[in-house]
Amino acid sequence: MSRNLIAIRTLENDEINHLISLGADFKSRIRAGEAVPRLDRKVIGMLFFENSTRTRVSFEQAAFYLGMRSSNFSTSSSSMTKGETLKDTILTLRYERLDGLVMRHRASGAPVLAARHFGGPVLNAGDGQHEHPTQALADALTIIESKGKIEGLTVAIVGDVEHSRVARSNAWLLDKLGADVRLVGPKTLIPTRTARLPGTFYYDLEEGIDQADVIITLRLQKERMKEGMVSSAGEYASMYQVNSESLRFAKRDCIVMHPGPINRGIELDDYTADGSHSVIHHQIENGVFVRMAAIYHCFGGGEA
Ligand code: ASP
Repeated sequence: MSRNLIAIRTLENDEINHLISLGADFKSRIRAGEAVPRLDRKVIGMLFFENSTRTRVSFEQAAFYLGMRSSNFSTSSSSMTKGETLKDTILTLRYERLDGLVMRHRASGAPVLAARHFGGPVLNAGDGQHEHPTQALADALTIIESKGKIEGLTVAIVGDVEHSRVARSNAWLLDKLGADVRLVGPKTLIPTRTARLPGTFYYDLEEGIDQADVIITLRLQKERMKEGMVSSAGEYASMYQVNSESLRFAKRDCIVMHPGPINRGIELDDYTADGSHSVIHHQIENGVFVRMAAIYHCFGGGEA
């Protein structure tokens, strides 16, 4: 049975846990040079309507490890520049017999529309301010590798929560799996309570990361911000940068994460981005394996 992966919010805990452990299984097999199940002769379209480095390449790597062919779709050289609608583009790819789609789009909800018209598995690679489910799965696997569990951990998500799809997917996943989730940032960048995001809001960095086991820092999403939401990057950094000074408030063995791309000197200083607390490289590597798991699962694969 084929499935879509659009949002963490609507997944059952069993499915989340399955995807994380499937990702871990793929990781150990690939690293050991062992065989993994293959989706031979399947073609997956990579539709990135917004820029991407990590997510795009890791989905391509994931498809390659599963023996698939990926078909890259560049918006700038497609018929969308001639005015073709998203619906017609999706229908075209469907009748060209692609078997699945990975899609990133600046509009929240675009992958739902794609799934409606495509008819096969659609995987959300980030839609507007809504969700980025595979990033949350990569982050969950990284946390479990470092801490052995998610349940009972204190996780502070710091920064531009309002505009971040990574924050949303992570908050849902971590809350479902039993972490104490804190959303930390300036009032202008924290959603209102009506947004119904799980977690407790903190407007002060030191309080928000106090005794935290995990700190997930977020990029300032300048492309999604209205004027005046932060007075300057420098002022934001002076209050919310996670650095050698502020880290003293978290647990001594806390891990620091960032989904990338990092604005160095704003969200993180070099000491923290590159130092012993950072697990950013593990997040990147795990992205490949959870994306293998996500593709395999959405194409109807059971246990690997
Ligand atoms: N790469 C992540 C995303 O696409 C995080 C970011 O861009 O800030 O959402």
